[in-house]
Amino acid sequence: MSSIFWFRRDLRLGDNPALNAAVRAGDGDVVPVWIVDTTFSSPAGPNRVKFLRSTLQSLDASLNKKLTIRCGDPAKELLDLAREVGATEVFATGDYAPKGRSRDEIVGASLARAGVTLHFIDSPYSVIPGTVRTQTGTPCRVFTAFRRGWELQPLETPLDAPTGVSWAQGTSVSLDELVNHSATRRPHYFGDLGLIEAKSIPEAGEKIAHQLLEDFLPSVDAYNEARNIPSIAGVSRLSPHLRFGTIHPRQILSAVDGMSTGAVQYRSEICWREFYADVLFHNPQAVSSNLISTMDQLRIDRNDKAVERFQMWAKGETGYPMVDAAMRQLLEDGWMHNRVRMLVASFLVKHLHLDWRWGAKWFMWHLIDGDIASNQNGWQWTAGTGTDAAPFYRVFNPSLQAERFDPQGLFIHKYVNELRDIPAPQCLQPGGGEGLLAAPGYFPPMVDASTERDEALARYAEAKELAKATK
Ligand SMILES: Cc1cc2nc3c(=O)[nH]c(=O)nc-3n(C[C@H](O)[C@H](O)[C@H](O)COP(=O)(O)OP(=O)(O)OC[C@H]3O[C@@H](n4cnc5c(N)ncnc54)[C@H](O)[C@@H]3O)c2cc1C
Repeated sequence: MSSIFWFRRDLRLGDNPALNAAVRAGDGDVVPVWIVDTTFSSPAGPNRVKFLRSTLQSLDASLNKKLTIRCGDPAKELLDLAREVGATEVFATGDYAPKGRSRDEIVGASLARAGVTLHFIDSPYSVIPGTVRTQTGTPCRVFTAFRRGWELQPLETPLDAPTGVSWAQGTSVSLDELVNHSATRRPHYFGDLGLIEAKSIPEAGEKIAHQLLEDFLPSVDAYNEARNIPSIAGVSRLSPHLRFGTIHPRQILSAVDGMSTGAVQYRSEICWREFYADVLFHNPQAVSSNLISTMDQLRIDRNDKAVERFQMWAKGETGYPMVDAAMRQLLEDGWMHNRVRMLVASFLVKHLHLDWRWGAKWFMWHLIDGDIASNQNGWQWTAGTGTDAAPFYRVFNPSLQAERFDPQGLFIHKYVNELRDIPAPQCLQPGGGEGLLAAPGYFPPMVDASTERDEALARYAEAKELAKATK
C-alpha cells in the first residue's frame, strides 16, 4: 500500500529522514504532495512565492514529475488524497513554529478519526527545538547558554536520498494556485507599496543549494571578517534554502567542520537560527508580542506621520545612504545582508520610533528567506524587546556603520543610483554628504540621527519608569 509524503519545509530528497520513513512504509511506493494553504501563503509577497514556486518545480523534476499539488485545508486535502490513492499513512517532517504546530495537531487528529495515521519525524533543525535546556532544566533565554548545550548534542550523519522509489501522483491542481493564493494580506501601513517584484530571484532547488555550499566552503576560513562587509560575497546565501529545506543544517554542519575562527563563527550563525526556533517554540507569543514586557510601555508612533515615515524607510528614501542602500537591496534582490538588516531595523525602531512589527511585516513580505522564527526574533533582538542582555542602548549609527563596513561606498554605489558619482567618504554621509549639488535627486536626511537617538533613549527611560510604577 502506498504511503503519502507531505512536503512542507523540507523540499529535498537527500537527508530527509521523514521521506525515507515514508518510502519504507509504502514499500517503495510513495505519493508526494504539496498543499497550498492560504494561512501560510497570504502574508508572503511575490518574491518568496516565486522562489518557492521554482523550488517546487525543481523538486517535481526530481520526482519524475509526480508531485501532487493540492490547494485548501490540509486536513481535507490529505484525507481526500489518502482515499484516492488508498493510503493509510502520511509522513511529514515536524514543524515547530506556532501556526505550523497548531495546524499539525488539527490535521493529525482529523486524519486519525478517519483511520489515517500522520507521522512527524525530524525537524528543519540539527537539534529539535525544545531539546536544549539550561542546567536547571529550563528553556535557554540567552544565546550563549543555548550554544553551550547545542554544541553538546550529537550531529547525525546526513542520509542519502532514497533510491528505487516508485513515485505516484494523485489528482493535482496547477502550481499557479500558489500565486493565486499569495500576497493577499497587506497591512494598511504598506499603502500601495509592496507589489513590485525583485529584479531577479536566485536559482532554486536542492542541487543549487549544494552548489552554493560547495562554492562557499573554500572561503569559510575568512568568514569571520568577510561576513560584515555587505559589498562582497563573504556569506553563504544559504538562508532561502534553509528556509525551504532544499538543504538541511546537518548537511551544512558536517561540511563546515573545521576549527578556524571562520568555521567556528559560521557554525555559531547556524546555531543562532536554531536558538531562535527554540525561543519561538517556548514563546509562541514572540511572533507578535514583546519578549520583554517592560517594552510594552515604550511610546511608539502610529499616526499618519508615522505611516509616511514608514513608507520612506520602506522605499529607501531616508537620506541615510547605508540605510537606503539596504532597503533597496531588499526591493531589488528580495534579500538583505545581515549587517544591514540590523542597521535598518535599529533605524526604524530607534530613529523613527516605529513599531518593530511593522518592519518585521515588510521584511516577511519581501524576503525570499522570510522565516518567522529568525525574522521576529531578529527584529526583537534589534528593537531591544527580545533575548539580548543589553538591548535598547545599542543604537546603530548609520554614518559610522557606513564608514566601518562600506568605507569605499561600494555597497552604497551599487544600490543608490543617485550617489553613484559621489565618491567616498562624502557618499557615506546623510543626504549624500555636504554640498548636495553633487547628488541630484537624492533625499535630504528625513530625521536628525543624533536628536532621535536621544529621543529614543528618553522614551526607553520613560518606559522603564512606567513599568516600575505598574508593577
Ligand atoms: C531584523 C532581522 C531579520 C532577519 N530575518 C531573517 C529571516 O526572515 N530569515 C532568515 O533566514 N534570517 C533572518 N535574519 C538573520 C540573517 O540576517 C540571515 O539569516 C542572513 O543574512 C542570511 O544570509 P546568509 O545565508 O548568507 O547567511 P550566512 O552569514 O552565510 O549564515 C549562514 C546561515 O546562518 C543563519 N544565520 C546567520 N545569521 C543569523 C542570524 N542573525 N539569526 C538567525 N540565523 C542566522 C542563517 O540560516 C544563514 O543562512 C534576520 C536578521 C535580522 C537582524
